[in-house]
Amino acid sequence: MIPPVQRDAELLADIRSGAGSGFGLWWLGQSGFVLRWQDRCLVVDPYLSDSLTRKYAGTDLEHVRMTERCLDPAGLGFVDVAVSSHAHTDHLDADTLVPMSLARSMPLPLVLPEATVSVARQRLSAGAVQYHGMDAGTRVEIAGFELTGIPAAHNTVERDENGRCRFLGYLIRFGPWTLYHSGDTCWHEALPGLLRAAQPDVVLLPINGAKNGRVAGNLDGREAARLAKECGARLAIPHHFNMFEFNTADPAVFESECRSLGLRFQTLNCGERWTSGSLGAGNP
Ligand SMILES: [Zn+2]
Repeated sequence: MIPPVQRDAELLADIRSGAGSGFGLWWLGQSGFVLRWQDRCLVVDPYLSDSLTRKYAGTDLEHVRMTERCLDPAGLGFVDVAVSSHAHTDHLDADTLVPMSLARSMPLPLVLPEATVSVARQRLSAGAVQYHGMDAGTRVEIAGFELTGIPAAHNTVERDENGRCRFLGYLIRFGPWTLYHSGDTCWHEALPGLLRAAQPDVVLLPINGAKNGRVAGNLDGREAARLAKECGARLAIPHHFNMFEFNTADPAVFESECRSLGLRFQTLNCGERWTSGSLGAGNP
């Protein structure tokens, strides 16, 4: 198994030490990131348990973990807001979000697609969670982070019986910065235009898409690099790899496409920090 470069007390101390005048990102593995700006923290899609490995043990869908867990989720009780892109367990995990919510004195604000709120209420019923349902185009501001829902295609832009997106990505705006977390998405027609209009500084994109003709629900490394280039992002960070053996990808494909497009990228190790300092003061 791949060991995280920082874990538990060391990782928490690094997150708590802040990110200077810019912002910091820490990759938690799979699609999970902690974002720190000033004294605020946001976490997206944390998967900090073995719930999928347990759920599928002994089946033909074995979820064999590739990277060790970097954090006990109770250690993240201090975050100001949690965000979930959709209801799949590696993005909305009770064994992560319940202990995180119980490790604090106030309920945990959780931003998620409105279409998944009822599922989340059941799944997280043992926790203390305050739900903020979102759809494509919905905005909410919590703790100084303004989030806007962006439709995601996993594999298609799927809507519930009320027409609300089941899968979302998010634009996250704070201070002068704009970050995009894709959730799980393939390329879809509306995506480049929506992102280009937002002028994201940094985009966090999945890279474990279609292999051998099999649709895997996400952008592959080449598509992720091209999307980042098309939307004018200043930096691209890959995610959704090195968690489960059956749906990982080699980031080298993404990296070489970024190089050939002249696009800045940063591949993180689990538990590693990236700080915005090298990007300057943000887009005006
Ligand atoms: Zn996923």
